[in-house]
Amino acid sequence: MECRLCGCPRTIHYATEVNREYRQCSQCHLIFVPDHHVLLLEDQIKRYALHDNSYENSDYCNYLKGVIKKIERIPLLNKRILDFGCGYDSVLTKLLHKEGFHSTAYDPLYNIGLDCFSQTYDIIILCEVIEHIQDIQKALTCINSCLASEGYLVIQTELYNGLDDFSSWWYIQDPTHINFFSKQSITMLEDVISRSVWHTNDSNFIILH
Ligand SMILES: [Zn+2]
Repeated sequence: MECRLCGCPRTIHYATEVNREYRQCSQCHLIFVPDHHVLLLEDQIKRYALHDNSYENSDYCNYLKGVIKKIERIPLLNKRILDFGCGYDSVLTKLLHKEGFHSTAYDPLYNIGLDCFSQTYDIIILCEVIEHIQDIQKALTCINSCLASEGYLVIQTELYNGLDDFSSWWYIQDPTHINFFSKQSITMLEDVISRSVWHTNDSNFIILH
């Protein structure tokens, strides 16, 4: 079975938890749930509906405002932003608009912004998104096609440090999470999209440039 990120055919069984398998790529160390254990789209949507990721949820908005603060540090005059995987209520884009940014929302699951790839963006944000994507290579191709050459790719996802007990790690408990990146996987991501890490907190936030 090929690695979802780098395509390497050498992947090994890593764990089996709650009736689904996890495999690890021997090249980029991505841990991923194989396609046959990925939830159907309608089941994913039902699961997402359990989260109150709406504009009315002040806790969720405050969390996203923290992300926006980090984006504000990116040294660009023009910030045309793509909110990739915006969710049903496009909350990050709504908050960005409120702060005066130009932001486009995209989420194929909810038929939002399906024509977004005809434009160019200075910043593309995947906020708690990449851990859900089944076809990462296709998504990265789309991202590279519309991210300006001097643009920034912002990713928020929990990195697995390889030390904590994987089976009890909270991040794998969500059945819609199917990709678990480590620092080595981020290094591979740099190669795949031909951009380098510009900033990371080594925990859950990465900006590539
Ligand atoms: Zn790999």
